[in-house]
Amino acid sequence: MLRKSIELANRPKIILALPSSVEALDTKKYEKSGEFDSCPVCLEEFMTGVDVTTMPFSHIFHKGCIVQWLGSWYTCPMCRFEMPKSLPC
Ligand SMILES: [Zn+2]
Ligand SMILES: [Zn+2]
Repeated sequence: MLRKSIELANRPKIILALPSSVEALDTKKYEKSGEFDSCPVCLEEFMTGVDVTTMPFSHIFHKGCIVQWLGSWYTCPMCRFEMPKSLPC
């Protein structure tokens, strides 16, 4: 009994964001605002006009970067805001 719970605790956990919640995020063309000018995932500066995704608390990411990020973890890389998560498999 005890051993089993230890094994479970040591298993790497992968918790994905719910795909429909990722799709529901706001995507827009980037315009320079001065405050968030680079992507926290790949650390590249945004180019004006690229597709960016804004999270509900105004953190901005490349669309491709945040989709990839949320495909392996369910919280915002900046503030750990929790997205709705799909069940671990
Ligand atoms: Zn990026
Ligand atoms: Zn955030």
